[in-house]
Amino acid sequence: MRMLIYKFLTESEVAVSLSDVENNFEKSDRTTLYRTLKTFEEKGIVHQIDDGSSISKYALCQQGCHCEIEHDLHLHFHCTNCTATTCLTDYKIPKITVPNGFVAENVNLVVKGICDKCSGL
Ligand SMILES: [Zn+2]
Ligand SMILES: [Zn+2]
Ligand SMILES: [Zn+2]
Repeated sequence: MRMLIYKFLTESEVAVSLSDVENNFEKSDRTTLYRTLKTFEEKGIVHQIDDGSSISKYALCQQGCHCEIEHDLHLHFHCTNCTATTCLTDYKIPKITVPNGFVAENVNLVVKGICDKCSGL
C-alpha cells in the first residue's frame, strides 16, 4: 500500500490532497490513506502544504530534505484557475527573522496566481 501511494506521489506533478489520494485508491479506506500520508510526513518523505484553500496538500520532499527552515523550505504556487499547488523547489524561502523570544518552527509561503499551464505564456 505504501509503495503504491509513494508511486502515485512521484507520478503527480502537483501537490495532492487526501481526496486526490482517495479517488485514486477507491478500495482503500480513508484512515489507512491518511495514516500513510502522516507516516510519510513524519519520515520526511512528504511535506504538507497549506495553500490557503483549507485543504491540506502533500508533495514529495527532495532527496536529503529535512524540511528545515533556511535549508529546505521553498515557495509554493497555488493556481487560482486550476487550483493546482506546485512546489517551486528551486525558489527557497528567504531567511525569516522573528523577534526575540519567538521561535519559528515552520514557514509557509504560498504565491497565488495563474500557473504556467493556465497562463499559456
Ligand atoms: Zn521536506
Ligand atoms: Zn493553473
Ligand atoms: Zn513543496
